[in-house]
Amino acid sequence: MTNRIPDEVIDRIRHSVDIVDVISDYVQLKKQGRNYFGLCPFHGESTPSFSVSPEKQIYHCFGCGAGGNSFSFLMELEGLSFVEAAQQLADKADIPFEHDVQPETSLNENKPTTRMVEAHELLKKFYHHLLVNTKEGQQAYDYLIERGFSRETIDEFEIGFSLDSWEFMTKFLTKRGFQLTEMEKAGLLVKRAKDGAFFDRFRGRVMFPIADLQGKTVAFSGRLIENIEGQPKYLNSPETAIFNKGKTIYNFHRAKKHIRKNQQVLLFEGFADVISAVKAECPNAIATMGTALTDEQAKIIRRNVESVVICYDSDHAGIEAAYKAANILTSVGCTVKVAVMPQGYDPDDYIKEQGPERFRNEVIDGSLTFMSFKMRYLRRGKNLQNEAERMKYIEDVLKEISQLTKAVEQEHYLRQLSQEFSISLDALQQQKNQISSLSGKKKDNDAWNRNNIARQPSFQTRLLPAYQNAERLLIAYMLKDKDVAIRIQELIQGNFNIEEHRALVMYIYAFYEEGYEPNLSLFMEKLVDGKLGRLASEIAMLSINEELSEQALHDYVQQVLIHPKLLKIKEKETEKQEAERQKDYLKAASIAMEIIQLKKALKS
Ligand SMILES: [Zn+2]
Repeated sequence: MTNRIPDEVIDRIRHSVDIVDVISDYVQLKKQGRNYFGLCPFHGESTPSFSVSPEKQIYHCFGCGAGGNSFSFLMELEGLSFVEAAQQLADKADIPFEHDVQPETSLNENKPTTRMVEAHELLKKFYHHLLVNTKEGQQAYDYLIERGFSRETIDEFEIGFSLDSWEFMTKFLTKRGFQLTEMEKAGLLVKRAKDGAFFDRFRGRVMFPIADLQGKTVAFSGRLIENIEGQPKYLNSPETAIFNKGKTIYNFHRAKKHIRKNQQVLLFEGFADVISAVKAECPNAIATMGTALTDEQAKIIRRNVESVVICYDSDHAGIEAAYKAANILTSVGCTVKVAVMPQGYDPDDYIKEQGPERFRNEVIDGSLTFMSFKMRYLRRGKNLQNEAERMKYIEDVLKEISQLTKAVEQEHYLRQLSQEFSISLDALQQQKNQISSLSGKKKDNDAWNRNNIARQPSFQTRLLPAYQNAERLLIAYMLKDKDVAIRIQELIQGNFNIEEHRALVMYIYAFYEEGYEPNLSLFMEKLVDGKLGRLASEIAMLSINEELSEQALHDYVQQVLIHPKLLKIKEKETEKQEAERQKDYLKAASIAMEIIQLKKALKS
């Protein structure tokens, strides 16, 4: 690891940031005993096996083995270099940091994706400037104000305006040293087929910047001010190396802290709804990019919050989409509610016509549980006056009820059905039981997972051979206690049986020899080998007693040292059996003698 930053600065950063804060920006953590648990951001899971230790300032995932400190967390998750991670942490801790991560002069040395983001950031600022400060932007500005946007909202969402020109952006980017072929790949320019010339993709549009999860601008959506024949009302950036619609969540970077605070997220279908919702004092609003919710987006949401209110259009397509999104979110462990508006409204219209207060109180606070929504959903297109259709409906609802995991919930909806259709509760109960037994009543793992953040990871009870456990425990003590490490160095030296343990203890000896005191986070930083880092974090998470007793130390050391001898005896026993099989009794007897000697030596 090239570490051009002075050690004092790194030390200051390490002491100033808390790993729980760093990781909380990405993962919803719940305290459980001394550690925090959450859903691992490095592998898809619905059971939290990702743990963070504030004491040790490290994290470890018992599912995929990922582990490390604050620095390695950012490096792995965001693909940052060490210096970039240090920069980000320094910013978080308000520590002055003068190590140019991306010097302006070396534009061409940067990765293409870095340049693409840079171009988007520059254009975003320039578009905003055009909108709010120039004569060219006046018409677009007036249009927005007329549509209920305030100057504050325009600034907050960094809305801008692109000039009605074929070559404005092209010239702007050329002047700043960007390569046009690359900018075409970034979705900002279009290449004309007939002569290969480049021209601006966005012309004469109100520009809405779209950021990735970290808040970097990666795309735009441009809206026409007045309809033009043959031109789409909205024009979006195409998918590029930096813009993946299925992973992008509009407004996520701004909404994140509000989502955490409210323990709830409001999910919309498009960015216009989000802007309206934020204006209506719902800052925890996010949206997909005009496409159906993907599994990936659902997982990102679940990592941050459990409770989701889906707030889609109330037309046919919107209801279908809400139903699908609710199922996806439920499958990743979210608790879903669905906001319902009068037929034909979308959230944007509703807020404009009915006002923010009604939106918050009636639509959001009055949202339906997923089950109630399903009951409405299943009714659509059915004439419940018709007996056959009514029976079909009741059966469909019973099927859904039988999937509910809580008995109280089941009872609640059964009563509702019973009242509405004047059927006895008993009869409904019976029919529901029949359905459950027919469908083999799947054990609902999601529910188990949802309610079991507290579940202890199973690794601690993992069955390992005694010598291997002994080695792990010794390493755990060595990591937290210098004296133990020095004693182990005398007693065992490098003779650990597991190769990775051997490598790890060498690093531990070296660490203390350099004069450091126990410090897990610092130690992990010195480990160049990612695999060893994972192992170190896993072992450091073992729960061990405060003190290592003399007796325990002796026992563990014995188990480590004795293992090769036991192996030798086993080997000899196999040899002896082979000799017996070949009827070479003389040889067998001599091996038997050896075995006796070996066993004797074991006891001494
Ligand atoms: Zn993991």
